[in-house]
Amino acid sequence: MTLVEMGIPALRSRRPSLDGRPDTPYLVDKFGRTARDLRVSITEKCSLRCTYCMPEEGLPPIPRDELLTTDEIVRLVELAVRELGVHEVRFTGGEPLLRRDLEQIIAGCHARVPETPLAMTTNGVGLEHRARGLAAAGLHRVNVSLDTVDRQGFAKLTRRDRLDSVLAGIRAAHAVGLAPVKVNAVLMRETLPGAADLLQWCLAEGCELRFIEEMPLDADHEWARANMVTAADLLDVLSARFTLTPAGRADPSAPAEKWLVDEGPGTVGIIATVTRKFCDTCDRTRLTADGMLRSCLFSDEEYDLRQALRSGADDGELAAIWRGAMWNKWAGHGIDAEGFVPPERTMGAIGG
Ligand code: SAM
Ligand code: SF4
Repeated sequence: MTLVEMGIPALRSRRPSLDGRPDTPYLVDKFGRTARDLRVSITEKCSLRCTYCMPEEGLPPIPRDELLTTDEIVRLVELAVRELGVHEVRFTGGEPLLRRDLEQIIAGCHARVPETPLAMTTNGVGLEHRARGLAAAGLHRVNVSLDTVDRQGFAKLTRRDRLDSVLAGIRAAHAVGLAPVKVNAVLMRETLPGAADLLQWCLAEGCELRFIEEMPLDADHEWARANMVTAADLLDVLSARFTLTPAGRADPSAPAEKWLVDEGPGTVGIIATVTRKFCDTCDRTRLTADGMLRSCLFSDEEYDLRQALRSGADDGELAAIWRGAMWNKWAGHGIDAEGFVPPERTMGAIGG
């Protein structure tokens, strides 16, 4: 199997160019942005098979020796915070709960950078059994992905009948104080009619719901601009049941635009990645489960931090690679541009 067939980009390099970069420790790029929000994918495996993300058979497994170890992840997180100005770290995947050492990863990071908020994006399956331990290890908050509260609809979309486990996971997260619990829902034709029920459920449970426009990052390559559900479609559906008042963004780099829901009271967010792109305020930097640095979900350019790490690079050399990777970040994703080509790695292999 070739790298591209495995969903792994062919464009890998180890030494990004630093030409023209100002002398600063931070993760600046050529467009005036500074990355402070680190997403760390820790596995490509998943307990669900959401149609907008994974193929039915799951992603090709990353060979065990190519996966970053607990200690490697902890070292790189500490480096990002101490040397590069990262302010927040979020663990993702695949499904992070499928890593048995997740509690050790969290505890290790919390011990090294205790002042840094640690968060996780999860599908919530099995979270009810681990929420307490994760909170005790130092996890601060979770985002749980949930697209519908209709059991059949959930089973169809995720190809697994696990709605009850996800709902129990959300409640357990609340109970142990992993707050605020945010719920992420991808906007799909199939789930749009149930969007108001999902919002009703989240308001009743005290969760902050955010809808996300579907991006061309599905492994089945079914995404088409003409078919996608937009933020405007969603607002039409929600407005039929709720009174919504625009409330803007929490801060300029927050991806979600918020609406106040009078009936909650509460809020609902919309992350309009495609129709109202926010690349010019993007503050993300990404590390994949196999140790590749990515500056953007949509760029195939990757920098091999694992290889550098395992061949004895010191913190200064690793930091230089990371700074260079971000210095070469693109201006934006160009989904709406003619000739747009989706990246080789799909969402489950990058980490959303
Ligand atoms: N398994 C975890 C989960 O589902 O939350 C973490 C990984 S998942 C890739 C991270 C986020 O990406 C989820 O909120 C998921 O809904 C979102 N996602 C996956 N595929 C997407 C797509 N094609 N467009 C937009 N969001 C997507
Ligand atoms: Fe798994 Fe999350 Fe992708 Fe769904 S969105 S298939 S839960 S990685």
